[in-house]
Amino acid sequence: MPDSLFQLPHEPGAQRYRPDYLYRRCEQAVEHWLKRARRISHSRASDLPMPEVEFNLRGLNAGMAVFSGRRTSPGRIRINEDLLRRYPREMIQHTVPHEVAHLVAYALYRKTDHGEEWQSIMRYFGKPPTRCHQMQARPARQHKKYRYLCGCQEHLVGAQINARIHRGLVYTCRRCAEPLRSAA
Ligand SMILES: [Zn+2]
Ligand SMILES: [Zn+2]
Repeated sequence: MPDSLFQLPHEPGAQRYRPDYLYRRCEQAVEHWLKRARRISHSRASDLPMPEVEFNLRGLNAGMAVFSGRRTSPGRIRINEDLLRRYPREMIQHTVPHEVAHLVAYALYRKTDHGEEWQSIMRYFGKPPTRCHQMQARPARQHKKYRYLCGCQEHLVGAQINARIHRGLVYTCRRCAEPLRSAA
């Protein structure tokens, strides 16, 4: 993973942690909150199965609970790896219990929203039942643009057109009719 990750906003000291250490910390946190949830006074709470944790979420969401239709199946928690690397504290202390609370709310009450049941589980965890994070995520797809010039203006083109020009295709400016040439 390139260090350019940490040119984006991050918690102080976040660079110190290796990804596998952070994965393990996340899994331990999931286990911690699930064990806590098993003590909720509800007939099915003590049977709550341990979910799987995946670090394959991209985009703006910090985490995502994936519900399983079958009662015996635990569901999954998906964690945004980029945010985990840059905001390990926030992710482990808030995002993980937030997502565990979703799985628990679903297992016990069949609720998937941020309603009363989810909120009561968050309060049981001693966590504020807030839903939005302040971490600065980056969009899943970053459309890199390439700079070209003609006789009259700058053109920003996508990767596909950039590749075609490199293969020898000529694109001309509609305004001045000159061929685009790379500004790099
Ligand atoms: Zn949520
Ligand atoms: Zn032009």
